[in-house]
Order: sequence, then C-alpha cells, then structure tokens
Amino acid sequence: MSITGYYPQTIATKATYLLTDSRQLSFPEQSIFFAIKGARHDGHQYVQELYDKGVREFVLEEASWTAELQEQAAAWTDAELYVVPSAIRAMQQLVAQRRRSFHIPVVGIAGSNGKTIVKEWLVQLLSPDQRIVASPKSYNSQIGVPLSVWNMGPEHTLGIFEAGISQAHEMEYLQPVMQPTTGIFTNIGSAHNDGFRSNKQKITEKLRLFTKVRKLIYRKDYTQVDQEIVLILQPVNAFLQALSWATATAADVTVRFEPDQTGATIALSGKLGVHRFHTGFKDEASLENLTHCIVFMLDFGVKAEVISQRIALLKPVSMRLELKEGIHHSHIIDDTYNNDLQGLTMALNFLVQQEQHARKTVILSDVLQTGQTPAELYRTIGKLLAEKGIHRIVGIGPEISSQQELFDIPFKEFYPGTDAFLQSFNFSSISDNLVLVKGARPFSFEKIIHRLQQKAHGTVLEINLDALVHNLNFYRSQKASGTRVMVMVKAFAYGSGSTEVAALLQYHRVDYLGVAYADEGVALRQNGINLPVMVMNASPSTFDLLISYQLEPEIYSRQVLEEWIEYIGENKAGLNLPPIHLKLDTGMHRLGFVENDLDWLEAKLESCPALKVASVFSHLVGADEGVHNEFSREQFAHFSRWTARLEKTLGYMPLRHILNSAGIVRFPEYRMDMVRLGIGLYGVEATGREQDALQPVGTLKTIISQIKHLKAGETVGYSRKGVLDHNAAIATIAIGYADGYDRRLGNGIGKVWVNGTPCPTVGNICMDMTMIDVTGVSAAEGDEVIVFGKEMPITELAREIHTIPYEILTGIGDRVKRVFYKE
Ligand SMILES: *Cc1c(COP(=O)(O)O)cnc(C)c1O
Repeated sequence: MSITGYYPQTIATKATYLLTDSRQLSFPEQSIFFAIKGARHDGHQYVQELYDKGVREFVLEEASWTAELQEQAAAWTDAELYVVPSAIRAMQQLVAQRRRSFHIPVVGIAGSNGKTIVKEWLVQLLSPDQRIVASPKSYNSQIGVPLSVWNMGPEHTLGIFEAGISQAHEMEYLQPVMQPTTGIFTNIGSAHNDGFRSNKQKITEKLRLFTKVRKLIYRKDYTQVDQEIVLILQPVNAFLQALSWATATAADVTVRFEPDQTGATIALSGKLGVHRFHTGFKDEASLENLTHCIVFMLDFGVKAEVISQRIALLKPVSMRLELKEGIHHSHIIDDTYNNDLQGLTMALNFLVQQEQHARKTVILSDVLQTGQTPAELYRTIGKLLAEKGIHRIVGIGPEISSQQELFDIPFKEFYPGTDAFLQSFNFSSISDNLVLVKGARPFSFEKIIHRLQQKAHGTVLEINLDALVHNLNFYRSQKASGTRVMVMVKAFAYGSGSTEVAALLQYHRVDYLGVAYADEGVALRQNGINLPVMVMNASPSTFDLLISYQLEPEIYSRQVLEEWIEYIGENKAGLNLPPIHLKLDTGMHRLGFVENDLDWLEAKLESCPALKVASVFSHLVGADEGVHNEFSREQFAHFSRWTARLEKTLGYMPLRHILNSAGIVRFPEYRMDMVRLGIGLYGVEATGREQDALQPVGTLKTIISQIKHLKAGETVGYSRKGVLDHNAAIATIAIGYADGYDRRLGNGIGKVWVNGTPCPTVGNICMDMTMIDVTGVSAAEGDEVIVFGKEMPITELAREIHTIPYEILTGIGDRVKRVFYKE
C-alpha cells in the first residue's frame, strides 16, 4: 500500500473510470473508487470488496479512515490511497483539472424545469454535425456533473451538460467542474424548495454556474431572473453577453407561439433575424424548451433551413426503461434512451441487477455518433459486455456486424438490419433469458420488442421502480443508521411482482425480506435472491424446503417449536440449519407466544442450544391510528420486558423488531434493531401524516375496447342495472372483477380516467369488462384508461368501497401483466 497523501493537492490517477457506486464496477484495473460517506450509504464499507476484485486506486475520507480500515489497508500491497476531507470535492477537483485541458464550447444548462429536455434536444438537433459529449439522462448533481464531464475526450467538438442544485453554495463547486462557455437558464418555478430561503436566493445560486460564461440565453418573461442577472451576475462577469428572448416583454429576441391544427409555429424577430419554425409540439413547456434550442442554434451559426429540417425530426425525450415478461419465459428490458456508450453502460448496470435469469442476451444496434472509430468503439463495447457477464450478443447493423471479431462473448450472431433479424432469428433461443434490447432510433427496435414481449390483454400494472426506491429511502431516513430494514414482499410483493421488487431491494441492500409462505421464499431463491428471508407461516410439510433453500421460519407457538426441534433432531445429513425468528403476541392475538408461554419457551431454548434465534419480534395492532397510541405503548412495554427475559436465557440478544410502515412514522423511538417495511414501499403512508413524502408506485391501466352511443332509457350490462338518464356515449373497458377491479365499484361508485377526465362506471362490473360513461369526453376506441395512479390515488379508490389499499393492491389479478420501469 502506498498512501500518496493526506489532502493531496492533486490526484494523479491513471484511471479511465471514476467509480462512486461499487455495484457499477466494470473495469477494476482502470477504475479509481471514491468512497463517499452520505446520509444513508457509506462507500468505505465496500473498499475491501473492491480491492479483492482488483481495484487499486482509492480516494478515502479522513473521517472514515479508522484504525480498523487502516489495518485492513495495511495488507493491500499494491494499492494507491488518497485520504482527503471529502471524496466528492476531491473528485470535483480532479475533473475540473481535466476539464481545463479541453478548449471546446461547453453549454451549461441550469433552471428549475426543462434542463434534461433542452439538453437531449440540443443533442438530437446538433449531432449530425458535432461530436457531442453530454450528461447522460439527468446526471446533474454534485456527483452526476463530474461523472458526466469526465467523459470529455479529444474527439469531442461540443459539450452539453446540465447542473441542478438543492442547496445554497452547491453551484460554486459545479462551475469549475463544467466551465461552461455558454449558459442556458431554462426557467424558474415557483415551487417552494427546502434548501433555499427564497425564490430570489434560488435564482442567484443557480446563476453561479454562469460566472465565467461569455453568453447567457434566458427567457426575459421571468422578470426575477432578468433582475438577478443584471444585479448579481453582470457585476461579477465582465465578459457576459446576455441573449434574452421573451413573448410578453421587450427582449433581444421577440418570440410568438402560434398554435395551429398540427402543432405550433415559433416566430422570432429581433437580434437573430426574422424566422418562423413549425413544430408538432404545442404545449407551452415544449415550446419554451424548443425556443431555447432555436436561439442557441441560431446564435451558434446553424442555418435556419437546417434548424427547420431538424426540428421536423425531433422526438419527445424518452428515458424510460421497461422490464417486462417476454415470450418463452424470458424477461425483456426495453430501453429507449440514447444508444450511446453511456446509455448502454447504464442499461447494462440495470441488467446485471436483475437476478431472474442466469443467461443474459443483449440485442444491440450500431451505436451512433460517439466520435470514436468503429474499432475503438466496438472493442470497448465488447469488453464491457464480457465484464458484465453477457452470454450472447445479437448485433444488428452494418457497422457492428463489420466489427464482430471484437466481441469475445460465448455466443454471437449478427444481422445487417432489423428486418433481416426478424426474418431469420430463432426466437425460441431466448428461452429463459434476460434480454436487453437497445437500438438507435433509425433501427426501429420497437418491432423487435413487439415480437419478444408477452402479449398483454390490454390491462397492465406499471410499477415505477424509481418511486419504489424513493419510498425505500424515505423510510430509511426515518430510522437511525444502525437499524436494519426487513421488507415484506409477501403476497407477490403486495401485488407488485415479488422477484422484480426483491431484485431491486437486494440491489439497494436491504437487510431482510419477509414472506408469508415457504413457496414464496422458494420463488425468490429460484430467481437469484440471496438475502436472508423470514417465512411467517412455517409448517412441518415445508420444513424440507426451508432447509434446502435456507429460509428462516417464524416460530409462533409451542407446537411449531416442538415440530421444528423434532425435525432438526433428525437432521442426520448435518445440513446447515437456518436460524429462527420468535414471534411474541403482545396484543394482536393472531400468531405468537403469550406471556404464559415464556417459562416453557425459555426451558426449551435452554435445552436445545442448536437453535439459533436470529430475531424476536411482535406486531403493533394500531400503529396507523392515533387513538390506539396507548395500546401501542403497552405492546411495546410488554415486548421490551419479554425480550429482556429471552436475552438472559439465550445469552445473546437477537435482533428485536416491532414496527411496520405506520409504526416507523408514528413511533420512530421504537425502531430497535430492525423495522418491517410493507405498504409504505408501494406508496401508501398508512398513518396519513407523511403521504406527501411518498411517490405513487403502481399505475393500473387498461384500454377502451368499444364505444357505443345509447339513448336515454336504455340499460347497460347485467341485470339492467345501468339505466341511462341521458343520451350517452358508453365505453367498454378491458378490466373486470377478475382483474381486481372490485365489483363494489360498479354503478357509478368508481371512476376511471380517460384522457385526463374522470368517467364513472355504468351498471354492474363484469368478470372481464366494465362499462363507463364517456359522454362529452374526448375518447376513442383503443385509448388508454387509468384505473389508479397519480390521477386517482389508490387510497381514494379504497375509501370509495370502504376497504384498505392493501386489499386493492393484493387483489390485482394474475393475468394483469406487470411492467416495471425507470427513467
Ligand atoms: C405484513 C406485515 C408487515 C408490514 O405491514 P405494513 O402495514 O404493510 O407495513 C409487518 N409485519 C408483519 C408481521 C406483517 O405480517
């Protein structure tokens, strides 16, 4: 080991890759790891693991450079360590230094909304004649900006990066990292931000990105932005040329938005000349974003005719990545984001976190506009695929085909184009594979997706994986850092899909999973989940399974304990016994030992030292409602007393836990060693106090199968219950009670959303279909219908029929396809 220094002035790394998340390691020998200690994660926990995998350069934080870590590191014979006050700042300095060696124009984008769209559109509009390095997706944070700028290379002619901040002073660190030469200030929202005292402060902080730009493009209709530029920015930036545009006030460029049948015309006059551009977009936000792009391009010297042609080809920005079931028991990852090297790397990182299938196939088109030579590019891609354990590559396109010898992958095949692939590919060969489908737009890979995916019958439950992680992190922030998290994924993860949700939870390093039955645990194991799993209902008929799949039983009664002891007594094969979890009944009166059982239980535990108790737990009956607080406190008091007794008997204290989702919010002081998160993960805050802190996870969608025009007095559906009191347009939608659309929602009790309008049900709900009233609503056959989601919270749906969200979620039928997505 050599410590290059405490607080080194510069980090003289030879690494090609900056690594901040140990899970995204691809090329250990060429990576430098920045161990960042944040509120929830501490990168220092993973340095040994990374060393073992071959990483040799580490930036560590002084506060975490403990005696223990020093001792560990003493054995690293050939590692380079930098010990610094802050790994993030060190990384920013490293990137700032590298950035100074490039002298190309760099566009820096700041503002409340639209940053990512303006950036992605500029890339689309300018890539035919520039070799662009840009932030991937919305990588705009203290870590995201340096990671983005690090990709800048001698082949690039233009950089486009976005920067977002959530607190004062953050932009001061990002300016030197990015060193933009031109700025775009997209807009300023009025939403209150916790990190800032006022809107004015929010603006001045964002403007700090532009202290050294030569040019700043902004919309002068935001008068506060204009004022702060004059008052704050101009005095510190003597070279600043402001280039303002506005629709409602005098500016360098006067703009008019003229909507029409097919979109809108953006008319500009003033400093950059008189121009008219037509676009298919017509909403105000898109027009504003596009105007920023147009003003930039005109000023950058792109000809108006060229801009017109390219605007006509502009596509909505899609960063969506979907995980869904495919044909032949496969899973498909459908990633529509840019097919450049960064986009591919991110998709591969998502792919490796899925554990469902051992065999991983990538269907990849030519990767466009990277600025690298094909040989360099496909050599890098080949290595990346090999590193990620991809077992088969299917390359589509002339360029990737011509470089096929650069792929050192067990199975490979190549096709000149998408149609050739569709004609001759052996589709059954993807059986039981996880398949990433990633193509540049001109290759129309949607045709491939269409062939590969399981046909849904029109009704899907979409699960937002980003929201799931957001909710997990909310609950994590409610507890002390030492407290573990068990996530309950029983009942198909509350209807959301257990293996996919469990894979995500494993990736995000929760400590435990909980299921109701052994077969649910077996399904997790068969899909690559290796976290500890507690099974709540264990019975002798499943003990074999528990042992062979290393699932940990909950022991809740004298009888089950006797049975378990007898069973393990016969464990002649000397198999590894999973530890057990003791359930105490402190008031729920469902399962669990009561106080009277404790003497007996203690004697048993003493007589059977082979039993390892992983945890002792109980369950609050009324954590969701304040009226039960006193009862909850009594439950906790019993629990504390009883667990103290068990500790004495055992000679050690197993993990103790009593809080469910509602309890975590209401009684953070009772979190003890672990909490058990359930419904909150799926976006329902059961106490109702912190609902705004969570994001909705599931959206249940269906489609309109048919629309009929009926006269007043006619009836709709079974038993003629839907009597029309007006001439009506009635739509039949493809969801019924067999899909989990509760029959109690019939006859106008339930509403679904069609193109933004709530539409009531008409008549009784059928097994597979429901009729709704779409009179006066813009609705056509084939249109999408939202049953619940952002528009229609699941809590409201539950309230309408006097039930709880749990019942709605777990009642969604098996035949409803689950689609998982992230942005
Ligand atoms: C289901 C369950 C939980 C989770 O409850 P939520 O209310 O969904 O948070 C916790 N503990 C036990 C024992 C459970 O059965």
